[in-house]
Amino acid sequence: MSTQKYAISLDVGGTFTKAAVVDRTGGQCLFKAALATRTDLPSPQVPDYLVEQIRALMADAEVATGDVAGISIGLPGVINQRTGRAISCPNLRNWEDLPLADQVAQRIGLPTWMEKDANQAALGELWLGAARQIEHSICFTLGTGIGTGIILNGQLYRGGMGGAGEIGHLPILPNGPQCGCGNHGCLEALASASAVSREARAAVEQDSQSAMVALAGGQAEAITSEIVFAAARAGDATAQCVLDTALEYLGIGIASIINAFNPDLIVLGGGMAQAGEQLLSPIRNVVGQHARRPLAEHVNIVLTELGSMAGVLGGAYLVFSHADR
Ligand SMILES: [Zn+2]
Repeated sequence: MSTQKYAISLDVGGTFTKAAVVDRTGGQCLFKAALATRTDLPSPQVPDYLVEQIRALMADAEVATGDVAGISIGLPGVINQRTGRAISCPNLRNWEDLPLADQVAQRIGLPTWMEKDANQAALGELWLGAARQIEHSICFTLGTGIGTGIILNGQLYRGGMGGAGEIGHLPILPNGPQCGCGNHGCLEALASASAVSREARAAVEQDSQSAMVALAGGQAEAITSEIVFAAARAGDATAQCVLDTALEYLGIGIASIINAFNPDLIVLGGGMAQAGEQLLSPIRNVVGQHARRPLAEHVNIVLTELGSMAGVLGGAYLVFSHADR
């Protein structure tokens, strides 16, 4: 086993980047930061930008290169983990097809891995969260999009070229709303936080008295998925109707995945998981109706235990697993 105590882990989102120096013993974060992601940078500047962020993080945490086992960079999209390149990253177009892992490794002098953000989150839950000691688990990150990471036999399942777990793009509704991937009616286009807020904004055009409008300060365009959940809790029928539709699609997507993989556990994370029982209980109902009965009875559906830190902790786990091989 290597002796370096720390891993550096980045979880780069289309809006924010979470970064942390994580201790190997129990995932204690020595230092963490959330920064706005520079999506505007031209491709040639991206490696230096990442290196700058990593060096600043190490300086703030006061760790030397010799104390660090490696670096993990999580990105939203299809990532080829073997080549350390992002193949398709719709929210970070300028980051695509760069040998980012190699470029960062050369400049900093530490082994560096790239991984899909949702895979990092699934590994975080496996290491320290809801999926500890579970053989087969699937972790959903429900936010702007829907990301998933699949753990089979205690290992991350990456598929043929690193693209497994694109469950957000499970086709659900032919001719449904257009998805960021270009197709129509993907699960993500029907049941992500952005799909919920989009449908709510459309619904209040017919119901201007909805509590959602008041909660958004009178601005329909300011309705977020949090507002939809809050209005539904307060008894707003229009908000409840928007949620019922979205959560039925989400439950159907999850039921399909349960039928395909017979997981022991489904973990729901991401921003929408903050709704707690309001999310969990309809999903359990829909899964009960649509998944094969013995499989639905076997699976546990729970909320994340690590919240927004799942991704950075999972990235650190990845670093330590490589370092200890
Ligand atoms: Zn899609």
